[in-house]
Amino acid sequence: MGRPVEIDTRSPGRCHRCSSPALLRIEVPDPDWPGGAARRVLVLCPLCHDHDPHSDGLRAFFALHSTLTVDNADEFGALIDQWITQDSNLRPME
Ligand SMILES: [Zn+2]
Repeated sequence: MGRPVEIDTRSPGRCHRCSSPALLRIEVPDPDWPGGAARRVLVLCPLCHDHDPHSDGLRAFFALHSTLTVDNADEFGALIDQWITQDSNLRPME
């Protein structure tokens, strides 16, 4: 069972930390609010995530593919899953 995730690669906006154009923006159910009562937004920033091991695969993907197609959608989905599963911002608070 995957979690419902909204992904925006067309107009992801800007990084809220450094204002660089983001690579992508995702919205997931907030892990601290069971039942999907709240959403959490994450942007993938080429600068701020430069040394983030959890998004290595995603950044490599964007370096290779300029667009998302049927052919690379599975790979993209797996990378998104890896990112949001491992990113500490998306873990429920202890
Ligand atoms: Zn940034």
